[in-house]
Amino acid sequence: MRDIEFYAQILGLEDPWFVDDVSMSLNDRRIDISLAQKEGRLWRCPKCDTELALYDHSEARTWRHLDTGGFQTFLCARPPRVECPDHGVLQVLLPWAEPKSRFTKDFRP
Ligand SMILES: [Zn+2]
Repeated sequence: MRDIEFYAQILGLEDPWFVDDVSMSLNDRRIDISLAQKEGRLWRCPKCDTELALYDHSEARTWRHLDTGGFQTFLCARPPRVECPDHGVLQVLLPWAEPKSRFTKDFRP
């Protein structure tokens, strides 16, 4: 199984999210999983759940995930933002992390 499919399955990613790239650094014992979204999808306002078109993306962010075989493992993505008529420009909720958390939901220190 290719590494991209492997991580998509263990992360339980669902459409429109997908694993875009996986890179490994043997020196740093680190794996970076880059996530991206399919285009043309609607996103929900995090406050009122209204479906809205993509507005833009926040800066790329990184979340610490469970280690993979002793390698520190990180997710990286640019979170989508929507412009809600009632709530303004907000980042959508991400399936793998609580808002503002630097760790994924699966991560247990
Ligand atoms: Zn809203």
